[in-house]
Amino acid sequence: MIQTSIAVFLMVIGAFLFCMIIVLPLLGKLFPKSIGKWCCEEMGWHNGKGGDRSFDGCSVHAVCSICDKEVMQDSQGNWF
Ligand SMILES: [Zn+2]
Repeated sequence: MIQTSIAVFLMVIGAFLFCMIIVLPLLGKLFPKSIGKWCCEEMGWHNGKGGDRSFDGCSVHAVCSICDKEVMQDSQGNWF
């Protein structure tokens, strides 16, 4: 039953990718105090949408709404 094992393998990979892409940021929004802080400190995923923004002529500066650290936005719109 090689087809069955390939199907199971693809489902496991798909579920893993789904967790990484959809569930983690969603959990970060639902529980910003615990998981959001973990994302900030361990993964470097910050949320600069909350606070004030400033533009220094080169990059957008903001304050992360979860960890209160000063963050900058890259060209893809991510905060670091
Ligand atoms: Zn942060």
